[in-house]
Amino acid sequence: MPSRFQAPRGTRDLLPADMATFRRLEDDARRMAALYGYRPIETPMFEDSGVFERGVGEVTDIVEKELFRIRTPGSDEERWALRPEPTAGICRAYVEHGMHTLPQPVKVTMFGPMFRYDRPQAGRYRQFWQWDVEAIGEAGPAIDAEIIELAYRFLNEVGVANVEMHLNSIGDQHCRPRYIEALVEHMSASAHELPELERHRLAKNPLRVLDSKNARTLGLLGDAPRMADFLCDACRVHWEGLLVHLETLGVPVTPAPLLVRGLDYYTRTAFEFYQTGEQGQQSALGGGGRYDGLIELFGAKPTPGIGFGLGIDRIAALAGRPDDAPLAHAVAIVVGADPGATTARLRLATELRAAGVPSSADLAQRTLSRQLERAAREGAHFAVVVGDELDSGQVQLRDLEAGTQRLVNVADLTREIQRAHGSHRHG
Ligand code: AMP
Repeated sequence: MPSRFQAPRGTRDLLPADMATFRRLEDDARRMAALYGYRPIETPMFEDSGVFERGVGEVTDIVEKELFRIRTPGSDEERWALRPEPTAGICRAYVEHGMHTLPQPVKVTMFGPMFRYDRPQAGRYRQFWQWDVEAIGEAGPAIDAEIIELAYRFLNEVGVANVEMHLNSIGDQHCRPRYIEALVEHMSASAHELPELERHRLAKNPLRVLDSKNARTLGLLGDAPRMADFLCDACRVHWEGLLVHLETLGVPVTPAPLLVRGLDYYTRTAFEFYQTGEQGQQSALGGGGRYDGLIELFGAKPTPGIGFGLGIDRIAALAGRPDDAPLAHAVAIVVGADPGATTARLRLATELRAAGVPSSADLAQRTLSRQLERAAREGAHFAVVVGDELDSGQVQLRDLEAGTQRLVNVADLTREIQRAHGSHRHG
């Protein structure tokens, strides 16, 4: 009978076969973050919804439509929300713990699930994973280049082919207002032709119009003013510095004049990663940018910051399975002629594990030949067969790959297995 329960819509189970890829990506992410000097941080999976309303921006899809709000038990108030992205929580923590007193920049990294109450569709989940890297307290542009290069190198190292890095500058509080004015003026002339949603955006958060997927809007954007022509001197110097650093680090740049990122707090540098030819709505592998205005929103003195979030679900789908992933973890499986005598098998497996040999005991009530069949199917290298010889301190050590078997002393078992397995693996 099928279970009446299923994973909630928009979520999925990551089965052991999926986890082989996920873990490899997580291991690579953590290894590379450490290599670049970014240290792990964890923030709660839910926060006061104000952290996201303020930190992500009220007029963003993430807050307007996708925030996964939670009602506090015993109350009607939706005080909390599951985190839709990591940056706001990390900046809240930076301020709360006075991390401005540490040597700057504070370089941190996080790997974990994010939640957006979006309409589920291919490649878009309500729970998905991100690898996030943030450098808080340095104004760049060298650190911008370092962070972009880290993400770019990761994508290449894990085997995503043809990665493109799309880059733009969205200015700052000095030059962006003039650009927004020019953009609104340009679009307003034809506002009546725009769909309702775009008119709403134009009124509330005009930059987001650049993000539009609407054909009519895109048509109008064709000859719209470009941010690049409005950058103030400081933003222009930053932009040019970034390009020089990226060239030095060998990261190719695809200029993206319409790239704005959906989040309000971004300043200057904005970037996104794509696979060549795959530039649709669900195809960004991740992105990030500078958020010099964010920390201030949490009540601290103005502090620059930059970071990225990479979408691990999408990257896992492209990076493929590692071919060298062992099917089973067990090197040895302890089986026995007497299906009922589990203590001896469990004890031997425990001794092997204590010596660091990945092992398990077959504890099921089945015949020896069935146990051996299963050990072979699990991909174990050895079966340790416990029989009457145990009375004289011996067991049969069967090499399942070579098809050989010999009697060994229990006292020598670990060493024998380590020797045979080691030389087999390295030979
Ligand atoms: P964003 O913070 O929206 O720029 O997202 C960063 C990256 O996370 C995206 O480029 C995607 O790869 C991934 N991502 C965002 N939302 C989802 C989602 N609902 N499901 C799966 N991946 C997502």
